[in-house]
Amino acid sequence: MKTYPLSNGDQMPALGLGTWKSEPGEVYKAIRTAISVGYRHFDCAYIYQNEVEIGAALNDAIMTGEVNREELWITSKLWNTHHHEAEVKECLNITLKSLQLDYLDLYLIHWPVAHRKDVIFPQDASGLISLSDIPLEDTWRGMESVQSAGLTKHIGVSNFSVKKIKQVNLSATQKIEVNQVELHPLLQQKELLQFCKEENIVVTAYSPLGSRDRAAQMKADNEPDLFEIPIIKKIAEKHGYSPAQILVAWAVNRDTVVIPKSTNEGRLKQNQEAANIKLSSDEMDSINSLDKHFRYVTGEFFALPGSDYTVSNLWDE
Ligand code: NAP
Repeated sequence: MKTYPLSNGDQMPALGLGTWKSEPGEVYKAIRTAISVGYRHFDCAYIYQNEVEIGAALNDAIMTGEVNREELWITSKLWNTHHHEAEVKECLNITLKSLQLDYLDLYLIHWPVAHRKDVIFPQDASGLISLSDIPLEDTWRGMESVQSAGLTKHIGVSNFSVKKIKQVNLSATQKIEVNQVELHPLLQQKELLQFCKEENIVVTAYSPLGSRDRAAQMKADNEPDLFEIPIIKKIAEKHGYSPAQILVAWAVNRDTVVIPKSTNEGRLKQNQEAANIKLSSDEMDSINSLDKHFRYVTGEFFALPGSDYTVSNLWDE
Protein backbone atom coordinates (compact mmCIF):
# COMPACT_ATOMS: atom_id res chain seq x y z
CA MET A 1 0.00 0.00 0.00
CA LYS A 2 1.31 3.42 -0.99
CA THR A 3 1.83 5.85 1.91
CA TYR A 4 2.59 9.59 2.17
CA PRO A 5 5.08 11.02 4.67
CA LEU A 6 4.00 13.70 7.15
CA SER A 7 6.38 16.22 8.72
CA ASN A 8 7.77 13.88 11.42
CA GLY A 9 8.18 10.98 8.99
CA ASP A 10 4.96 9.16 9.96
CA GLN A 11 3.37 7.52 6.92
CA MET A 12 -0.30 8.06 6.08
CA PRO A 13 -1.82 5.15 4.09
CA ALA A 14 -3.14 6.15 0.64
CA LEU A 15 -6.38 4.20 1.09
CA GLY A 16 -8.73 4.59 4.01
CA LEU A 17 -12.28 3.50 4.68
CA GLY A 18 -14.90 6.27 4.75
CA THR A 19 -17.54 5.86 7.45
CA TRP A 20 -20.09 8.65 6.82
CA LYS A 21 -23.53 7.01 6.37
CA SER A 22 -22.21 3.66 7.59
CA GLU A 23 -25.17 2.90 9.78
CA PRO A 24 -25.04 1.66 13.34
CA GLY A 25 -25.96 -2.01 13.03
CA GLU A 26 -23.78 -2.48 9.97
CA VAL A 27 -20.64 -0.45 10.63
CA TYR A 28 -19.22 -2.94 13.20
CA LYS A 29 -19.19 -5.70 10.60
CA ALA A 30 -17.86 -3.35 7.91
CA ILE A 31 -14.86 -2.37 10.07
CA ARG A 32 -14.09 -5.97 11.06
CA THR A 33 -14.35 -7.08 7.43
CA ALA A 34 -12.22 -4.15 6.27
CA ILE A 35 -9.48 -5.03 8.77
CA SER A 36 -9.61 -8.69 7.73
CA VAL A 37 -9.11 -7.78 4.05
CA GLY A 38 -6.22 -5.43 4.83
CA TYR A 39 -7.55 -1.91 5.54
CA ARG A 40 -5.56 -0.14 8.23
CA HIS A 41 -6.85 3.44 7.81
CA PHE A 42 -10.30 4.59 8.93
CA ASP A 43 -11.87 8.00 8.38
CA CYS A 44 -14.26 8.85 11.20
CA ALA A 45 -16.03 11.93 12.56
CA TYR A 46 -17.91 12.90 15.70
CA ILE A 47 -20.85 13.97 13.55
CA TYR A 48 -21.20 10.60 11.77
CA GLN A 49 -22.77 9.35 15.02
CA ASN A 50 -21.29 5.88 14.67
CA GLU A 51 -17.98 6.18 16.50
CA VAL A 52 -19.12 4.00 19.43
CA GLU A 53 -19.73 1.06 17.12
CA ILE A 54 -16.53 1.70 15.19
CA GLY A 55 -14.70 1.76 18.53
CA ALA A 56 -16.14 -1.63 19.47
CA ALA A 57 -14.94 -3.10 16.18
CA LEU A 58 -11.45 -1.59 16.48
CA ASN A 59 -11.15 -2.73 20.07
CA ASP A 60 -12.26 -6.29 19.27
CA ALA A 61 -9.80 -6.48 16.36
CA ILE A 62 -7.00 -5.30 18.66
CA MET A 63 -8.03 -7.60 21.55
CA THR A 64 -8.09 -10.68 19.30
CA GLY A 65 -4.59 -9.82 18.08
CA GLU A 66 -5.68 -9.28 14.48
CA VAL A 67 -4.01 -5.87 14.45
CA ASN A 68 -2.23 -3.70 16.94
CA ARG A 69 -2.94 -0.03 17.54
CA GLU A 70 0.33 1.08 15.97
CA GLU A 71 -0.62 -0.52 12.64
CA LEU A 72 -3.85 1.49 12.45
CA TRP A 73 -4.32 5.02 11.14
CA ILE A 74 -7.39 6.59 12.71
CA THR A 75 -8.65 10.01 11.63
CA SER A 76 -11.55 11.88 13.22
CA LYS A 77 -12.96 15.39 12.99
CA LEU A 78 -13.95 18.25 15.26
CA TRP A 79 -17.60 19.19 14.86
CA ASN A 80 -18.70 22.78 14.26
CA THR A 81 -20.21 23.02 17.77
CA HIS A 82 -16.74 22.98 19.36
CA HIS A 83 -14.78 25.70 17.55
CA HIS A 84 -13.91 27.71 20.67
CA GLU A 85 -10.24 27.12 21.45
CA ALA A 86 -11.04 25.73 24.90
CA GLU A 87 -13.69 23.33 23.57
CA VAL A 88 -11.65 21.41 21.02
CA LYS A 89 -10.40 19.03 23.70
CA GLU A 90 -13.93 18.23 24.88
CA CYS A 91 -15.04 17.11 21.42
CA LEU A 92 -11.86 15.10 20.87
CA ASN A 93 -12.23 13.39 24.25
CA ILE A 94 -15.77 12.26 23.33
CA THR A 95 -14.41 10.80 20.10
CA LEU A 96 -11.51 9.06 21.89
CA LYS A 97 -13.90 7.55 24.43
CA SER A 98 -16.26 6.35 21.69
CA LEU A 99 -13.43 4.89 19.63
CA GLN A 100 -11.84 3.33 22.76
CA LEU A 101 -8.51 4.91 21.88
CA ASP A 102 -5.86 6.89 23.80
CA TYR A 103 -4.88 8.94 20.78
CA LEU A 104 -5.82 9.64 17.16
CA ASP A 105 -3.40 9.61 14.27
CA LEU A 106 -5.07 12.65 12.72
CA TYR A 107 -7.64 15.18 13.92
CA LEU A 108 -9.22 17.60 11.45
CA ILE A 109 -11.34 20.74 11.73
CA HIS A 110 -14.34 19.30 9.84
CA TRP A 111 -15.64 22.57 8.31
CA PRO A 112 -14.64 26.25 8.39
CA VAL A 113 -18.05 26.88 9.94
CA ALA A 114 -18.95 27.49 13.61
CA HIS A 115 -22.24 26.59 15.30
CA ARG A 116 -23.68 27.43 18.67
CA LYS A 117 -22.67 24.65 21.04
CA ASP A 118 -26.23 23.37 21.45
CA VAL A 119 -26.99 23.32 17.71
CA ILE A 120 -25.75 20.22 15.89
CA PHE A 121 -27.41 21.09 12.55
CA PRO A 122 -28.56 24.70 12.28
CA GLN A 123 -31.96 25.26 10.72
CA ASP A 124 -31.59 29.04 10.62
CA ALA A 125 -28.94 31.72 11.07
CA SER A 126 -29.38 31.82 14.86
CA GLY A 127 -27.58 28.44 15.11
CA LEU A 128 -24.47 29.71 13.35
CA ILE A 129 -21.60 31.78 14.78
CA SER A 130 -19.71 34.12 12.50
CA LEU A 131 -16.04 33.37 11.83
CA SER A 132 -15.36 36.94 12.93
CA ASP A 133 -16.53 35.87 16.42
CA ILE A 134 -14.60 32.57 16.47
CA PRO A 135 -11.75 33.01 13.99
CA LEU A 136 -10.31 29.83 12.51
CA GLU A 137 -6.96 30.78 14.07
CA ASP A 138 -8.54 30.37 17.56
CA THR A 139 -9.85 26.92 16.69
CA TRP A 140 -6.44 26.02 15.31
CA ARG A 141 -4.77 26.98 18.61
CA GLY A 142 -7.12 24.47 20.27
CA MET A 143 -6.00 21.87 17.72
CA GLU A 144 -2.35 22.63 18.48
CA SER A 145 -2.91 22.19 22.18
CA VAL A 146 -4.59 18.74 21.83
CA GLN A 147 -1.67 17.70 19.67
CA SER A 148 0.82 18.97 22.29
CA ALA A 149 -1.12 17.00 24.91
CA GLY A 150 -0.56 13.81 22.91
CA LEU A 151 -4.25 13.25 22.12
CA THR A 152 -3.58 13.25 18.39
CA LYS A 153 -0.36 12.73 16.48
CA HIS A 154 -1.25 15.03 13.59
CA ILE A 155 -3.65 17.90 12.96
CA GLY A 156 -5.24 19.22 9.82
CA VAL A 157 -8.35 20.68 8.24
CA SER A 158 -11.18 19.74 5.92
CA ASN A 159 -13.09 21.76 3.35
CA PHE A 160 -10.48 24.54 3.53
CA SER A 161 -9.61 26.76 0.55
CA VAL A 162 -6.09 28.01 -0.23
CA LYS A 163 -7.09 31.37 1.29
CA LYS A 164 -8.17 29.80 4.61
CA ILE A 165 -5.10 27.55 4.82
CA LYS A 166 -2.85 30.60 4.32
CA GLN A 167 -4.80 32.55 6.93
CA VAL A 168 -4.44 29.81 9.59
CA ASN A 169 -0.82 28.98 8.78
CA LEU A 170 0.22 32.61 9.14
CA SER A 171 -0.07 32.45 12.94
CA ALA A 172 0.29 28.68 13.39
CA THR A 173 2.99 27.12 15.52
CA GLN A 174 2.23 23.71 13.98
CA LYS A 175 1.34 24.10 10.31
CA ILE A 176 -1.61 22.31 8.71
CA GLU A 177 -0.48 18.82 7.67
CA VAL A 178 -3.57 17.49 5.86
CA ASN A 179 -6.54 19.01 4.00
CA GLN A 180 -9.49 16.69 3.30
CA VAL A 181 -11.70 17.89 0.44
CA GLU A 182 -14.10 16.52 -2.17
CA LEU A 183 -12.14 15.23 -5.18
CA HIS A 184 -13.10 13.08 -8.18
CA PRO A 185 -12.78 13.49 -11.96
CA LEU A 186 -15.57 16.10 -12.10
CA LEU A 187 -13.98 18.14 -9.25
CA GLN A 188 -10.20 17.94 -9.63
CA GLN A 189 -9.19 21.13 -7.71
CA LYS A 190 -5.79 21.29 -9.45
CA GLU A 191 -4.76 24.68 -8.00
CA LEU A 192 -5.58 23.58 -4.45
CA LEU A 193 -3.58 20.38 -5.00
CA GLN A 194 -0.60 22.29 -6.38
CA PHE A 195 -0.67 24.72 -3.44
CA CYS A 196 -0.88 21.85 -0.92
CA LYS A 197 2.02 20.09 -2.61
CA GLU A 198 4.17 23.23 -2.31
CA GLU A 199 3.22 23.53 1.37
CA ASN A 200 3.82 19.81 2.13
CA ILE A 201 0.15 19.31 2.92
CA VAL A 202 -1.20 15.82 2.20
CA VAL A 203 -4.58 16.00 0.44
CA THR A 204 -7.32 13.45 1.10
CA ALA A 205 -10.07 12.89 -1.49
CA TYR A 206 -13.56 12.52 -0.03
CA SER A 207 -16.67 11.37 -1.91
CA PRO A 208 -14.38 9.86 -4.58
CA LEU A 209 -17.23 7.73 -5.96
CA GLY A 210 -19.82 10.53 -6.03
CA SER A 211 -21.42 9.86 -2.63
CA ARG A 212 -24.49 8.18 -4.14
CA ASP A 213 -25.90 7.07 -0.78
CA ARG A 214 -26.47 10.63 0.50
CA ALA A 215 -30.00 11.47 1.65
CA ALA A 216 -32.24 12.67 -1.18
CA GLN A 217 -32.49 16.18 0.30
CA MET A 218 -28.73 16.59 -0.04
CA LYS A 219 -28.80 15.74 -3.75
CA ALA A 220 -29.31 18.06 -6.69
CA ASP A 221 -31.65 17.06 -9.50
CA ASN A 222 -29.94 15.05 -12.23
CA GLU A 223 -26.59 14.72 -10.49
CA PRO A 224 -23.96 13.19 -12.79
CA ASP A 225 -23.12 9.54 -12.18
CA LEU A 226 -19.34 9.04 -12.13
CA PHE A 227 -19.76 5.32 -12.93
CA GLU A 228 -21.47 6.20 -16.23
CA ILE A 229 -18.79 8.54 -17.63
CA PRO A 230 -17.77 6.92 -20.95
CA ILE A 231 -14.00 7.50 -20.46
CA ILE A 232 -14.13 5.89 -17.00
CA LYS A 233 -16.23 2.97 -18.30
CA LYS A 234 -13.91 2.41 -21.23
CA ILE A 235 -10.75 2.29 -19.08
CA ALA A 236 -12.54 0.00 -16.61
CA GLU A 237 -13.66 -2.40 -19.37
CA LYS A 238 -10.21 -2.48 -20.92
CA HIS A 239 -8.63 -3.70 -17.65
CA GLY A 240 -11.54 -5.79 -16.40
CA TYR A 241 -12.09 -3.52 -13.40
CA SER A 242 -15.22 -1.70 -12.25
CA PRO A 243 -15.65 2.07 -12.83
CA ALA A 244 -15.41 2.56 -9.03
CA GLN A 245 -11.98 0.92 -9.06
CA ILE A 246 -10.77 3.29 -11.78
CA LEU A 247 -11.96 6.26 -9.67
CA VAL A 248 -10.04 4.98 -6.63
CA ALA A 249 -6.97 4.23 -8.75
CA TRP A 250 -7.06 7.70 -10.35
CA ALA A 251 -7.02 9.33 -6.90
CA VAL A 252 -4.01 7.31 -5.76
CA ASN A 253 -2.19 7.75 -9.10
CA ARG A 254 -2.44 11.55 -8.63
CA ASP A 255 -0.87 11.23 -5.17
CA THR A 256 -3.89 11.90 -2.99
CA VAL A 257 -5.17 9.81 -0.10
CA VAL A 258 -8.60 8.37 -0.95
CA ILE A 259 -11.34 7.24 1.45
CA PRO A 260 -14.19 5.49 -0.39
CA LYS A 261 -17.03 4.42 1.90
CA SER A 262 -18.49 0.93 1.72
CA THR A 263 -20.16 -1.49 4.10
CA ASN A 264 -20.28 -4.29 1.52
CA GLU A 265 -17.61 -7.00 1.64
CA GLY A 266 -17.21 -7.35 -2.13
CA ARG A 267 -16.94 -3.59 -2.67
CA LEU A 268 -14.55 -3.19 0.29
CA LYS A 269 -12.26 -5.72 -1.42
CA GLN A 270 -12.66 -4.06 -4.84
CA ASN A 271 -11.67 -0.67 -3.45
CA GLN A 272 -8.72 -2.13 -1.56
CA GLU A 273 -7.46 -3.82 -4.73
CA ALA A 274 -7.98 -0.60 -6.72
CA ALA A 275 -5.50 1.38 -4.64
CA ASN A 276 -2.73 -0.70 -6.27
CA ILE A 277 -3.85 -0.28 -9.90
CA LYS A 278 -1.36 1.63 -12.04
CA LEU A 279 -2.97 3.78 -14.74
CA SER A 280 -0.96 4.78 -17.82
CA SER A 281 -0.18 8.45 -18.44
CA ASP A 282 -2.60 8.41 -21.41
CA GLU A 283 -5.35 7.07 -19.14
CA MET A 284 -4.55 9.70 -16.51
CA ASP A 285 -4.58 12.44 -19.17
CA SER A 286 -7.97 11.36 -20.48
CA ILE A 287 -9.49 11.33 -16.97
CA ASN A 288 -7.78 14.66 -16.20
CA SER A 289 -9.68 16.20 -19.12
CA LEU A 290 -13.06 15.53 -17.44
CA ASP A 291 -12.97 18.35 -14.85
CA LYS A 292 -16.21 20.33 -14.55
CA HIS A 293 -15.74 21.83 -11.06
CA PHE A 294 -18.89 19.99 -9.99
CA ARG A 295 -19.48 19.47 -6.25
CA TYR A 296 -21.74 16.78 -4.79
CA VAL A 297 -21.28 18.19 -1.27
CA THR A 298 -22.03 21.86 -1.94
CA GLY A 299 -22.09 23.16 1.63
CA GLU A 300 -25.38 24.91 0.86
CA PHE A 301 -26.75 23.68 4.19
CA PHE A 302 -24.50 26.23 5.96
CA ALA A 303 -25.48 29.18 3.72
CA LEU A 304 -28.49 30.12 5.81
CA PRO A 305 -30.24 33.43 5.10
CA GLY A 306 -29.33 36.12 7.60
CA SER A 307 -25.94 34.52 8.43
CA ASP A 308 -22.69 35.68 6.91
CA TYR A 309 -21.99 32.21 5.43
CA THR A 310 -22.48 31.87 1.69
CA VAL A 311 -21.51 29.08 -0.69
CA SER A 312 -19.15 31.55 -2.31
CA ASN A 313 -17.29 32.55 0.89
CA LEU A 314 -17.29 28.93 2.11
CA TRP A 315 -15.16 27.83 -0.85
CA ASP A 316 -13.62 31.27 -1.55
CA GLU A 317 -14.63 31.01 -5.19
P1 NAP B 1 -18.28 7.78 -1.68
O1 NAP B 1 -17.22 7.01 -1.00
O2 NAP B 1 -17.97 8.62 -2.86
O3 NAP B 1 -19.45 6.79 -2.13
C1 NAP B 1 -20.06 5.89 -1.26
C2 NAP B 1 -21.11 5.12 -2.06
O4 NAP B 1 -20.46 4.33 -3.06
C3 NAP B 1 -21.93 4.17 -1.23
O5 NAP B 1 -23.24 4.16 -1.74
C4 NAP B 1 -21.26 2.82 -1.46
O6 NAP B 1 -22.20 1.78 -1.28
C5 NAP B 1 -20.85 2.96 -2.90
N1 NAP B 1 -19.67 2.14 -3.25
C6 NAP B 1 -18.54 1.97 -2.53
N2 NAP B 1 -17.65 1.20 -3.18
C7 NAP B 1 -18.24 0.86 -4.36
C8 NAP B 1 -17.83 0.07 -5.46
N3 NAP B 1 -16.62 -0.51 -5.50
N4 NAP B 1 -18.72 -0.08 -6.49
C9 NAP B 1 -19.94 0.51 -6.46
N5 NAP B 1 -20.38 1.27 -5.45
C10 NAP B 1 -19.53 1.46 -4.40
O7 NAP B 1 -19.07 8.71 -0.65
P2 NAP B 1 -18.85 9.43 0.72
O8 NAP B 1 -19.24 8.52 1.81
O9 NAP B 1 -19.51 10.75 0.61
O10 NAP B 1 -17.27 9.74 0.81
C11 NAP B 1 -16.33 8.85 1.38
C12 NAP B 1 -15.92 9.26 2.78
O11 NAP B 1 -15.34 10.56 2.76
C13 NAP B 1 -17.08 9.43 3.77
O12 NAP B 1 -17.63 8.20 4.15
C14 NAP B 1 -16.40 10.22 4.85
O13 NAP B 1 -15.58 9.37 5.64
C15 NAP B 1 -15.58 11.19 4.03
N6 NAP B 1 -16.29 12.49 3.77
C16 NAP B 1 -15.82 13.60 4.41
C17 NAP B 1 -16.46 14.81 4.23
C18 NAP B 1 -15.92 16.04 4.92
O14 NAP B 1 -16.63 17.05 4.99
N7 NAP B 1 -14.70 15.98 5.41
C19 NAP B 1 -17.57 14.92 3.38
C20 NAP B 1 -18.00 13.78 2.72
C21 NAP B 1 -17.35 12.57 2.92
P3 NAP B 1 -21.94 0.51 -0.29
O15 NAP B 1 -21.61 1.03 1.06
O16 NAP B 1 -23.25 -0.20 -0.34
O17 NAP B 1 -20.82 -0.28 -0.91
